Amino acid sequence: MRKNIVAGNWKMNNDLAQTETLITSLKSQTKTTEAEVMIAPTATNLWQAYNSLKDSEIEVIAQNMHFAESGAYTGEISASMLKSVGVTTVILGHSERREYFNETDELLAKKVDAALANKMRVIFCFGEELADRKSGNHENIVESQIKNALFHLSAWDYKSVVLAYEPVWAIGTGETASPEQAQEMHAFIRKTLADQYGYEVANSVSILYGGSVKPANAQEIFSKPDVDGGLIGGAALNAEDFFAIVNAF
Ligand code: PGA
Repeated sequence: MRKNIVAGNWKMNNDLAQTETLITSLKSQTKTTEAEVMIAPTATNLWQAYNSLKDSEIEVIAQNMHFAESGAYTGEISASMLKSVGVTTVILGHSERREYFNETDELLAKKVDAALANKMRVIFCFGEELADRKSGNHENIVESQIKNALFHLSAWDYKSVVLAYEPVWAIGTGETASPEQAQEMHAFIRKTLADQYGYEVANSVSILYGGSVKPANAQEIFSKPDVDGGLIGGAALNAEDFFAIVNAF
């Protein structure tokens, strides 16, 4: 069956010394669940983080990458560069990438292809904005984000794809989707996948929820049948809080 996953997205937080300090705290925590645990430090600290955690249960993953293999893309990082520092999973399509760096579904489709061609695992993020939710258009938006960026993939490719539903209105706002709203959308996402690929594939894909997950609400959200874990921002910057969420399954 599909895996439960808790991934910490550190965003643009923590320099090298702070990364080392937080990793030391994370290593002192005890995992009491089967959930896979990942952290995504900033790119400059991936190698250090990988070396500190390579004998632990915590996987070090990247927050982003470029679709090209190499070349004239100043400031960018390729899949093979990530792999060369021990990183084999990458977050793609985060709403902050979409909003501040103009990442479109079409661009993200290329990034997904590049990651899969490099045998990397992808955590693909998507989610509606508040106006979409208010106008009742949230399912249409989510469906089109998934179709545009992922429906060219083969069923086999989904062995390397994790989905992360992150309603934009819940990210970093303290406002969480209710467990019922999360379940309703996750069930819709799984049905969308099933319509295209069948239920065997749809039931094998982990769908994470992201948006103001905290120790106080994680257990109720994770208890929903179609919620297979979380992508955690703010609460991932504190080791006790992050492990309280990991252990909430
Ligand atoms: P948050 O961020 O937990 O701080 O809301 C989640 C995310 O952006 O992945």
